[in-house]
Amino acid sequence: MRVLKFGGSSLADAERFLRVADIAVNTHGQSQVALVLSAPAKVTNHLVALVEQTSRGMDATNTLFEINGIFSRLLAGLKAAYPALDDKALQARLTGELDQVERLMQGIRLLGLCPDNVQARILSRGENLSIAFMHELLRVRGLELDLIVPEQLLVTDGGYLEAHVDIEASRLRFAAKGLRSDCLYLMPGFTGGSDKGETVLLGRNGSDYSAAVLAACVDAECCEIWTDVEGCYNCDPRLVPDAYLLKTLSYKEAMELSYFGAKVLHPKTIAPVAQFHIPCLIKNSFNPQGPGTLIGVEQGDDDLKVKAISDLSGMCMFNVSGPGMKGMVGMAGRIFSAVSRAGVSIVLITQSSSEYSVSFCIHSYDLDKTRKVLEREFELEFKNQLLDPLEIMQDLAIISLIGDGMRTSKGMAARFFTSLAQASINIVAIAQGSSERSISAVVRAGKVAEAIKACHQNFFGSQQFIDLFVVGVGGVGAALVDQIARQQPVLAEQGTGLRVVGIANSRQMAVNKDGLNLANWREQLVEARDSFSLEAVQKLVEDSHLINPVIVDCTSSEAIAVQYADFLAAGFHVVTPNKKANTGSLDYYKALRRTARQTRRKFLYETNVGAGLPVIENLQNLIKAGDKLRAFDGILSGSLSFIFGKLDEGMSFSEATKIARGNGFTEPDPRDDLNGMDVARKLLILAREAGMALELCDVEVEQALPPGFDVSGDVEAFMARLPEADGWFRDQFALAQSEGKVLRYVGSIEGGKCKVAIKAVGADEPLFKVKDGENALAFFSTYYQPIPLVLRGYGAGTEVTAAGVFADVLRTQNWKQEL
Ligand code: ASP
Repeated sequence: MRVLKFGGSSLADAERFLRVADIAVNTHGQSQVALVLSAPAKVTNHLVALVEQTSRGMDATNTLFEINGIFSRLLAGLKAAYPALDDKALQARLTGELDQVERLMQGIRLLGLCPDNVQARILSRGENLSIAFMHELLRVRGLELDLIVPEQLLVTDGGYLEAHVDIEASRLRFAAKGLRSDCLYLMPGFTGGSDKGETVLLGRNGSDYSAAVLAACVDAECCEIWTDVEGCYNCDPRLVPDAYLLKTLSYKEAMELSYFGAKVLHPKTIAPVAQFHIPCLIKNSFNPQGPGTLIGVEQGDDDLKVKAISDLSGMCMFNVSGPGMKGMVGMAGRIFSAVSRAGVSIVLITQSSSEYSVSFCIHSYDLDKTRKVLEREFELEFKNQLLDPLEIMQDLAIISLIGDGMRTSKGMAARFFTSLAQASINIVAIAQGSSERSISAVVRAGKVAEAIKACHQNFFGSQQFIDLFVVGVGGVGAALVDQIARQQPVLAEQGTGLRVVGIANSRQMAVNKDGLNLANWREQLVEARDSFSLEAVQKLVEDSHLINPVIVDCTSSEAIAVQYADFLAAGFHVVTPNKKANTGSLDYYKALRRTARQTRRKFLYETNVGAGLPVIENLQNLIKAGDKLRAFDGILSGSLSFIFGKLDEGMSFSEATKIARGNGFTEPDPRDDLNGMDVARKLLILAREAGMALELCDVEVEQALPPGFDVSGDVEAFMARLPEADGWFRDQFALAQSEGKVLRYVGSIEGGKCKVAIKAVGADEPLFKVKDGENALAFFSTYYQPIPLVLRGYGAGTEVTAAGVFADVLRTQNWKQEL
């Protein structure tokens, strides 16, 4: 026999009812079927409301009317499909049941409360009517039918509302009754019988459990739970779009999963089927062809160590602590006995070996009664300060990793907790049973989505997202966005979802939490209403639960640079070619690094010096490996490399500057290059990376102009005046040439001092041949001497700089997939 259970959503209207009948008839063609039904969707909730309203003296006529409406519409729909249906009889049954409910309501009204046995009778009406309707429908379709009456066959204990089925005793009753083999059986879910044969309930959503115990009682070949989802997913598909359906689960995995919040199965369902080794299949009644999830396969067809990640919200945590705990035998016993006396189920327990405190999680709806029993139980201890006041944390959730394969495999917990840390999630408590089948972490409820996403990325190698806010879309920013647009498909194929969720200029910001369409980002920016602020982007990140957000600052704005510490503190990585932050005060420089470390976010600025050349990371690695920077010489400006290189060819200084400006090598106002400040900033950044505690004002800067040259006026006036500098440069060049040298604009570090100046460089020096816009950096260190480490290449230009920023962006992705 196969037991088929259909839930409320599968029975919500006539169309669905008919579909259930089809499935039952088809299955019955292959194997005998016992059908267990819930009440149609919403009916039990209405009945619960009706009892509550009546107990409180309120009028519940409307609620009764709603219930009547659901069944009347159902009846009309079934009659339309099967005109032979005896609708009169069903209508009479409906009226009879609802009249009976009304009579019971009168009693409740008089008493001002609803005794549990009456409540059980009322709440079970939905299931009974479902069965009556299905019985008539299947009768018309020509099936031989019989009923299983749970009040007579399912022996229970545990009261009227949350009863537990005694399977051994129930099996004896089934054996004594003897089931026919030629008919399809129908049984209402949710109910069983008291020792007096009265109706008892098996707990809300208890029809899954009904099906499981029936399957156990009749040694069914299979227990099929038909619901409105495809089966069990490896995590909540509403949170992770690429969550996938689990083909198989062991009983133990299913048990952990349903306890820890996967709402597909009622937690009590697994034990009876597991005890009698009955396979349990979860199927979607809206897609009967779908494979579903099969529970009961000890060795699944995939060898994943972690099978699923689940979340259980609505938790609160009690912490019982104090000097009286240490070494006191029986404290834990008293805590848990008291909680159990209150009828409260404990979901998770932790105790540190210091024995100073015991913490446990319960459902938030049990908070008040738990607090009361503990306060009563430990009244004396609280009074004598042997215990500290109870600490209760609310709005918590439990995230659990589940999988039989986690047993004995190493590194699972480490990866779990690292995932949570990477998503900036604080862990309130942790628990792992020695079965090693599940590891749980208690986190703030508001962080569940982030936690599940981070763990899914880490354990299931799903798409790993990097979510960018690009601020500043002048040259480099625009080039970066265009490069990303071109590269997105390639990265997606490699498992990286690089999304630009925000693009901002100084006035507007275009946003889209799923990633802007980069084909027309310029138009979207023109139309955008928002503007960039930390609050705005933070809200988007929180609302959309983005776990790897990055702010890319492509402005040269000081106002943005001074906010980096706040960005990092708010959980963003910061990537930037903007040099302002790293050349601000040394205190701010240090604060940025401290905040990045504390928040485990990355602050990346490889393009601050030498654009796309791999300067910063190399220097950092050398220093980390114990090398020391003794001296440094570098050509750190592309435009000045070009201009000074042209002097070698006999071109005048003013002409070279004009060409450099015309080609866009210089800033729009070449004085911004010639004043040497940009080179000074780069030099300061290198010096600080090398461990020197310097401020920008400590860098000695000689501008790339004759001493005292008049730099006043607007840019055109300055350019018109520039030929007056040519004579001085000619003389300087001739002097250098007479010694076999050339002129270069060089940033140097020597003896703990930084200096930027025009320098005559000899043929044996690394910078002699560097011209035409090329940058070169010569590091003389303890390991690299007397020949320095030289890095050379184009160190300016929008495309190479943007590519360098792009590389930094990809470095923020720190998830590693399970191998
Ligand atoms: N109808 C009951 C409830 O909603 C039992 C069930 O559907 O499983 O709680």
